Amino acid sequence: MIAPPMATAPRLRFAPSPTGSLHIGGARTALYNWLYARRHGGTFILRIEDTDVERNRPELVDQILEAMTWLGLTWDEGPYRQSDRYDLYRDAAARLLAEGKAYRAFETPEEIEAGRKAAELAGTAYRYSGAGRAIPKEESDRRAAAGEPFVVRLKMPSETIVVEDLVQGRCEFPPDVLDDFVLVRSDGHPLYHFSVCVDDVAMEITHVVRGVDHLANTPKHVALFRALGAEPPRFAHLGMILGADGKKLSKRHGAAGVEEFRAQGFLPEALVNFVALLGWSPGGDRERMTLEEMAALFSIERIGPSPSRFDHEKLTWLNGQYLQDVPAARLVALLAPFGLPGRDAATLERAVALHRSRCRTLVELAGALTVYGADPSTYDPAGLKKFGKPGTADLLRSFAERAGAAAPFTHAVLEEGARALAAERGIKLGDLAQPVRLALTGTLASPPLFELIEVLGAETSLRRVLALASFLEAGGGDGTPHEAS
Ligand code: GLU
Repeated sequence: MIAPPMATAPRLRFAPSPTGSLHIGGARTALYNWLYARRHGGTFILRIEDTDVERNRPELVDQILEAMTWLGLTWDEGPYRQSDRYDLYRDAAARLLAEGKAYRAFETPEEIEAGRKAAELAGTAYRYSGAGRAIPKEESDRRAAAGEPFVVRLKMPSETIVVEDLVQGRCEFPPDVLDDFVLVRSDGHPLYHFSVCVDDVAMEITHVVRGVDHLANTPKHVALFRALGAEPPRFAHLGMILGADGKKLSKRHGAAGVEEFRAQGFLPEALVNFVALLGWSPGGDRERMTLEEMAALFSIERIGPSPSRFDHEKLTWLNGQYLQDVPAARLVALLAPFGLPGRDAATLERAVALHRSRCRTLVELAGALTVYGADPSTYDPAGLKKFGKPGTADLLRSFAERAGAAAPFTHAVLEEGARALAAERGIKLGDLAQPVRLALTGTLASPPLFELIEVLGAETSLRRVLALASFLEAGGGDGTPHEAS
């Protein structure tokens, strides 16, 4: 096989196996490949590695594509599916056999298993003996033609393989750790390392950026690239991502999949920004960046080799920062899947603008907006205790009267009226504002009260204020408000 022409622009790929949904680690791998391709005017390729029939879950492919699209990691080529490319692997295996770079091995599964057991008993790692190498070509062809089952193995070179990893540094793999591994199973099915390398060669991949868990496979890949007649790509292996407890990030840490973070109300731009910083930094104390800004600054040299910690609190903080800048109309659209009260778009936009500074996720913001839905069904007992005293109901009725007369119905006019009322009664504004807040929200917490009243509207606000008045007049009961009267 002829080596591919030196690519002038880099070509990178993200090659997920659809055995699980897109994990944060996978998202980071995709992102770094994407950023490198964008930074250098290269090509970002998406390849689905779906040849592991037993572990594959085809329904996950769409979910992975959807998660990547949501993060903004669009691809220039693909998605290629390895399951559509078996001919390519078959041809490559035939070529390696013909060129004497691979050979057929006829051991039965029982023989291999016995070898493994013996190694286990001896306390050593199993290595294939290489016996198949000695079978003359004519004999090998004859046995294959006669239907004897065989696997195809690569002739590993007996030399140290050196990988100058762009992140992990120089890694040396002496020949005694590697054996002649299987490329093609006896049923003709190509194995993982083989299809990866055949595709990387065919797709003219120049840089392989992936998790450090693949580093141990890399000498096999280097040997395969050479056997296939191609220059190996540059490798960059990324450190692990750990949870707060120092263990590999997983579902146990609350969430580990992109879809889970999406469901928890994180914004794609915040998540992708946060994920970028798991191992890379542009230098200085710069943290908040758009994809385009990151693409302009990205360099593999600034990726550290060590594991990174996933700091959920920091992600939540960053998300809160992003949340403040999303245009209100888009925010309303983003909130729809989390449930929105039945209000018109203009009211919802004013509502998000009012509440977002107190929220860090879409889930929190959607929670805050429920105040625009049904009237409170209970009142905070602490609030009732504090404001359930005689006179509050009357105060609330007076407030309702004044608010009803506010013209225009704006927070400034409402506040003016409330201040005047408090002054007349000789009480502090807070002593009026708090029971009103309780009436409107059922709690003592809310965004600035008069803005809330303005957005809630006169009808809803006054109904709720009068409902609490009636409730208090009726003696409080079980904390459940009555109809307004
Ligand atoms: N399909 C592999 C995985 O999902 C990636 C292989 C590679 O990047 O070389 O882990």
